[in-house]
Amino acid sequence: METQLVVLGGGPGGYAAAFMAADLGLQVTLVDAEPRLGGACLLRGCIPSKALLHVAKVIADARHAADWGVAFAAPKIDLDAMRARKEKVIAALSGGLAQLAKRRSVQVIRARGVFEDSQTLRLEQAGDKPPAADRLRFQHCILATGSSPTRLPALAIPTARAMDSTAALDLPEVPESLLVIGGGYIGLEMGTVYAVLGSRVSVVEMTDGLLPGVDRDLVKPLHKRLEKDFAAIWLNAKVVAMADKKDSIEVTFEGQGPGTTERFSRVLVAVGRRPNSAGLGLEHTKVQVDSRGFVMVDPQRRTADPHILAIGDVASEPMLAHKAAHEGKIAAEVLAGHEAAVFSPRAIPAVVFTDPEIAWAGLTEAEAKKEGRAVEVAQFPWAASGRAQSVGRTEGLTKWVIDPESRCVLGCGIVGAGAGELIAEAVLAIEMGATVEDVAQSIHPHPTLSETLGFSAEVYLGTATDIYRPRTARKA
Ligand code: NAD
Repeated sequence: METQLVVLGGGPGGYAAAFMAADLGLQVTLVDAEPRLGGACLLRGCIPSKALLHVAKVIADARHAADWGVAFAAPKIDLDAMRARKEKVIAALSGGLAQLAKRRSVQVIRARGVFEDSQTLRLEQAGDKPPAADRLRFQHCILATGSSPTRLPALAIPTARAMDSTAALDLPEVPESLLVIGGGYIGLEMGTVYAVLGSRVSVVEMTDGLLPGVDRDLVKPLHKRLEKDFAAIWLNAKVVAMADKKDSIEVTFEGQGPGTTERFSRVLVAVGRRPNSAGLGLEHTKVQVDSRGFVMVDPQRRTADPHILAIGDVASEPMLAHKAAHEGKIAAEVLAGHEAAVFSPRAIPAVVFTDPEIAWAGLTEAEAKKEGRAVEVAQFPWAASGRAQSVGRTEGLTKWVIDPESRCVLGCGIVGAGAGELIAEAVLAIEMGATVEDVAQSIHPHPTLSETLGFSAEVYLGTATDIYRPRTARKA
């Protein structure tokens, strides 16, 4: 079997690349081992976790309604129904992708692809039936094989009570107690779901703060909230051993944990993800892989092999679906002969869908400091926002990182309800090279949380009237 372009991996990066390439006139084959398109993001990541976080929000909002004089009875939780509803979301979206592939004449093959050389993939059976052919010859390949949860050998014990994110998303039960190992994106998002459903959730994080690498001003309000919602947050602590005790898992800690050992009904291991570059036969091509397993690519997403490009989690951090999709489109354009196509964003947004949410884009204060770059920072506390007060979410904060010379906005960070939606305005401003004046002079609708982006810019300019803080920008 032959194809002009094969895309290996049908996640958000892979299907964006395949569909874009087809739209640009290439003949495309998409190979994925899963029975459905969508990759980890749709089948066992972003989408199912957001469906469960939606449920968590409904329950939490109903609880907080008591502050406004409206009391609801405790929720009755039907896990089977919840799972089925989540599955319906996945089925609708993956069914849609299959249709989109068909409409574009993208051939989808269910198989595990392994490189035999720079222009041949061996197609190994992944489902009940063998694939239509056992070899696929191609002119070009876009590698989009994504990433998988990092496994720690010391913590790999053969019990369903020890879960990775995939198992946790299956909602096997609401355990009485849950230990989350890793205070990153997945640990905090899934910890939030289980805590709202009724588990006593504890988090152990080996560094000195939750969400390492994220601006501390943004993490602080979330940490404060999680201290109330979670049973414990242990920082500077590690799990060194786990033992299956049938009805629970015995966990041994090191560092500033709870003491030496403690038992939990279940454990979720969420200590990061690693690129899926092993076992693909890349050694039979000219593709180079770095020491962490990432496929090395140039700004056009070309690898060292002239026939192979790579995008998404397998190629570089941050491991985020929207970054993968953009890279996929660039790779397709490059193969269609668009010489000028390069992946060079000023701002890749990141969102942690906890409650409150944390979102940021562009340069952070910490990165500026590390680079020795002089920036100024302006921030607006949500306690002074009419909308935040009226929805009872005053813990938020919106901050801009600004270039003092050009007065361009270089970065933005937001913590608060709906921060993930609000950050989109900041991405546009940063990409367009907007100045802080541009942001301040853009009229934001009242009363909305989006006003905090305008107000924060006004704080920098000394024109804010909703807060008494004339010209308070500080040097970072
Ligand atoms: P992560 O890198 O966000 O967090 C892992 C955490 O585990 C870190 O804080 C790390 O210090 C800690 N850790 C590592 N080893 C440990 C140990 N032995 N004991 C205790 N703590 C330990 O990784 P993740 O949460 O697994 O998520 C993986 C990736 O998936 C993320 O980096 C992100 O790119 C992506 N993701 C994104 C979203 C989103 O966009 N909302 C959600 C989930 C996952």
